[in-house]
Amino acid sequence: MPRGGARLLEGGPIATEIRQAVSEDVAAYRERHGRAPVLAVVICGRDAPSMVYLGQILRSCEKVGIDGRLVEVDGEASETSLVEAIRALNADPNVNGIIVQMPLPPTIRLLSIVEAIDPAKDIDGIHPLNAGLLRLGYDGFLPATAHAAVEILRRSAIEIEGRRAVVVGRSAVVGMPAAFLLVRENATVTVCHSRTRDLARHVKDAEIVLVAAGKPGLITGAMLRRGAVVVDIGINVVDGRIVGDVDFEEARRVASAITPVPGGVGPLTNALLLTHLVRAARGQESATGSGGDLPPEAPPPSSPHPRDAVGAATRGVR
Ligand code: NAP
Repeated sequence: MPRGGARLLEGGPIATEIRQAVSEDVAAYRERHGRAPVLAVVICGRDAPSMVYLGQILRSCEKVGIDGRLVEVDGEASETSLVEAIRALNADPNVNGIIVQMPLPPTIRLLSIVEAIDPAKDIDGIHPLNAGLLRLGYDGFLPATAHAAVEILRRSAIEIEGRRAVVVGRSAVVGMPAAFLLVRENATVTVCHSRTRDLARHVKDAEIVLVAAGKPGLITGAMLRRGAVVVDIGINVVDGRIVGDVDFEEARRVASAITPVPGGVGPLTNALLLTHLVRAARGQESATGSGGDLPPEAPPPSSPHPRDAVGAATRGVR
């Protein structure tokens, strides 16, 4: 562990590098098609707290030359009108990727909406097909936050293979996909949740701790093993400040490396979503025979992996 506390794993510089590469890809796409790739951001009502996040995504799109479009369905939107709006975007060949504002209004069923998105345009990996591909070890679209949580380790040259990892949180969009990604990187993974008995014991055993619970201060310094690597995915507002789920000041004295909140996983999430959009656009090119095939999202792990065997089967959803 470095003197003076843990190494800071900052997402900002990695995100800048990624955005630079995306800008180049977007320029090449524009050259081939005479237009920018298009991301549609579907919202129902502008009041939701997630508007801040969606606004950041649209600004990032603008910076790299992606055409980010807000598609607004009335705040009183019914499930039918939202599904219809998504189907229209699926059918529009000029739209390459779709994300939908979450959480949805309480009257709208999540499954109806995620199932409505064309898996080939589902750049945040929420469609059951993409979730299933990840579960099976194939290369569909990944949920951007889970992707960022693991990518920050990879790009910071933190060893994952063979290490004991604990993921705190088992949501379909963050905790579970992060756990599957760690398994894919050959970590030995335990998933904890609100019914876990003796969370502290599990965390103490872990060499890598990913936390996505939405509970500020859930993980204290005393719970961590000395030298652990900590990725804090949580975003909470406490006394007007954004904090994670980990007690940062305590944890940095014990951990060998830790992501700050804000400034860790968040900026990387945003940048990776842009790479997913570029992948979708290129995947659609190859599906229509007007362009080249795509590289996989991440370099293959060192052990044999089934996804290499199904490139053709998954091509439409990259
Ligand atoms: P979620 O759907 O509410 O899931 C929270 C998970 O944490 C659940 O699995 C829950 O267990 C578990 N949990 C809650 N309290 C716990 C406790 N005391 N001990 C152990 N586990 C506990 O939340 P989410 O959508 O996954 O998001 C998690 C966090 O990530 C939130 O703070 C969110 O704001 C943040 N987030 C960050 C980004 C980013 O870009 N950094 C993006 C999206 C979300 P049960 O399953 O048993 O209920």
